[in-house]
Amino acid sequence: MKSVVIDKRRDKVNDECGVFGIYNNDNLDIVSLTHDGLYGLQHRGQESVGMTVIKDGEPFTVKDIGIVSTVFNEKSISKLPNGKISVGHVRYTSHDYLDRAATQPLVMRYIEGSLALANNGAISNFAEIRSGLEMGGAIFQSNSHAEVIGYMISTHRIDCDSIEEAVLKTMDDLKGSYSLVISSPSKLIGLRDPHGFKPLCIGKINNSYIISSESCAIDSIGGEFIRDVNPGEMIVIDDEGFHSFYSENKKTTSLCLFEYIYVARPDSVIDGVNVNLARRKAGEILFNENPVEADIVCGVPDSGLDAAQGYASASGIKYATAFIKNKYIGRTPDGVGADKKQRLLKTRLNVIKNIVYGKRVIIIDDSIIHGNTSAHIVKILKEAGAKEVHVRISSPEFVHSCYFGMDLPKSEDLVSNRFSVDELKKRIGADSLKFLSVEGLHKTADGCNIGLCDGCFSGVYHADKPKIIFEDKFANKIKKF
Ligand code: SF4
Repeated sequence: MKSVVIDKRRDKVNDECGVFGIYNNDNLDIVSLTHDGLYGLQHRGQESVGMTVIKDGEPFTVKDIGIVSTVFNEKSISKLPNGKISVGHVRYTSHDYLDRAATQPLVMRYIEGSLALANNGAISNFAEIRSGLEMGGAIFQSNSHAEVIGYMISTHRIDCDSIEEAVLKTMDDLKGSYSLVISSPSKLIGLRDPHGFKPLCIGKINNSYIISSESCAIDSIGGEFIRDVNPGEMIVIDDEGFHSFYSENKKTTSLCLFEYIYVARPDSVIDGVNVNLARRKAGEILFNENPVEADIVCGVPDSGLDAAQGYASASGIKYATAFIKNKYIGRTPDGVGADKKQRLLKTRLNVIKNIVYGKRVIIIDDSIIHGNTSAHIVKILKEAGAKEVHVRISSPEFVHSCYFGMDLPKSEDLVSNRFSVDELKKRIGADSLKFLSVEGLHKTADGCNIGLCDGCFSGVYHADKPKIIFEDKFANKIKKF
C-alpha cells in the first residue's frame, strides 16, 4: 500500500473532512446523488474521496486519493450498484502524509456483517484507546480514527442487543470531536459528538433520508433540510423512518467557530446560523472595531469575500473585486523550492491592476497563520500600483493550536506568537493591520443554538486536550511516489 507525502506547511488553516449518506426509500439513483452530494462537500477536503453502497446487505466501495472528479470516473463508478444505503467521504488528512489505507469510508467486517464508516473529527483519547486495543491483540490497517471507532463498535456489539446500543456505548468511550456517518447492513446512522464540534445535519429527498456535514450538499441534490443533528445525538434511519437517541455522556457544547469564518460553504446553515450572513457580519464588526479611510474594500478569495462585502456595507466604502483566483491549481507538491512556491502563489492569485492602481485598498482575509500569504498579497497589490494597503482579518489572532480536528500548527509556530501586531504589520509590508476581537467573533454567530469553541483564539477549550499524542511509526517509513 503506497502513501503520498504531502506538504503541510501551507499558510492556511487546512480544511477537514466531509461526510454524506443516503437511506434510499424511493429507488433513487443513490450513486449519482451521493457523487453530487460529495461535490457539494468538496471544499471540506481535497485529498481523498470515497463512496460505499450497501446492496442486499453487502458493501461495494470505490475510494482513492484525489478529488470527486478524478476518483469517480465512468469506469470506477460503474463498480457501484444502485443500493439501499450509501456512505460518502471527502478527506483532508491532519497527518503529514496520505495513507491510502486510511481513505474512507472504512469498511470493516464484524460479527453482524459489515460496517462502513465516514468520519470528520479528531478523537482526543485516540492514543490511549488504540494502544489499549493493541495491547489486547487488535491489529490496525491504518492510522485512522474511524478504524478505532469501528473496532470499538464491533467489540461492544458482542455484549449489546443492537447496533444502536453498541454505538451509544462507543460514544461513552470517545473524547474529542467526531461527526460520523455509518452504515450497517440495514441501517444508516449519523452521530455527532456531545460537544458538537463539527456540523452534521439531516435532510430528505422524496421519502429518502440524507445525512450530511453541511446543508449545502443537501440543497445541491435537490433535497430539503430537516434539521441539525444535535450534540450527543445519534440518528438511526431504517425502513420505518428516522429515530433519535442521545448519549448520556453530556458535555458543554462547543461548535468550532472557524466553521463560520472559513471552513463551511457560505450557502450552508449550521446550528441556526447562515454562514454567508455570519461572514458578512464579521466584516461589519471588523469595520466597527477597526475603521480606516480608503477608496475600495476587497476580499481575498474565497472566504474573505463575504466579510469584505460586510466591511464595505458598514463603512460605505466601495466594494471591488481585486483578485482572480485560479481554482484549477491543486496543492503544492512536497519538495518544491521557495522560488517555485512564490510562482505558484502568483499563478493561484492574480491582481486586477486597473481596480487597485493609485487606490487606498482595504484587503480582508480570514486568518493569518505564518504570514507568508499576507506578505505576498500586500506585495502584489503594491506592485499593481495600490497607494496604501490596509489588511483586516475577519478572525482574531491564532495564538493556540487546535486539538479537535482543525490542522493548525503548534502554538510556537503561529506567527502571532512570534511577533506583535505592529511587528507583523511591518513584516507583511502593510500600511495597517487589524484583527477581529474574540468578542466580535462570537457576535458573528449570534443566534447559534449551541455553545461555541474559540480555543485557538482564547486558549479556553471545553473538551479535554489529548494527554498522549499518537506516534505513527509507519509515517517514518513511507516513500514518496
Ligand atoms: S480550537 Fe479553534 S479551530 Fe479548533 S475547534 Fe476550537 S475554534 Fe475550531
